[in-house]
Amino acid sequence: MTDCLFCRIAAGALPAHKLYEDDHILAFLDLHPIRPGHALVIPKAHHVWFEDLPPDLATRVTTCAQQLARRMKALYGVPRVAMFYTGIHVPHAHAHVVPMQDQHDVTSAAYLAEGPGVFSAPPQLPAEEMVAIAAALRPAFS
Ligand SMILES: [Zn+2]
Repeated sequence: MTDCLFCRIAAGALPAHKLYEDDHILAFLDLHPIRPGHALVIPKAHHVWFEDLPPDLATRVTTCAQQLARRMKALYGVPRVAMFYTGIHVPHAHAHVVPMQDQHDVTSAAYLAEGPGVFSAPPQLPAEEMVAIAAALRPAFS
């Protein structure tokens, strides 16, 4: 088994609060959400960089993120949802999908509270809250 965290999640070897899954991609909740509902969409195949994803796979990730974004807007009443790749933390391409409560939710101020060079991971939410959030987001795909 690979030591890639996201390959292990994609293979079902590690648990995740899954939102959507098919043969090619997987969407699940980020363990350190910027905002409740913060999701990750990954290709199941191991690719380090998003720019190296085959076009059809990149489209699948984006389409999934679009479905999540529409659900997040309805569920959380937010005006916008951010979708971005950073390549930080886990070297397996993953798109962040974040319901933005504030326009600075995904800009540097949220990450650099402890100074440049230090990326603060937002705190984890209680497991039961994560379960409820996942259940509320899954209708995005029905
Ligand atoms: Zn991987």
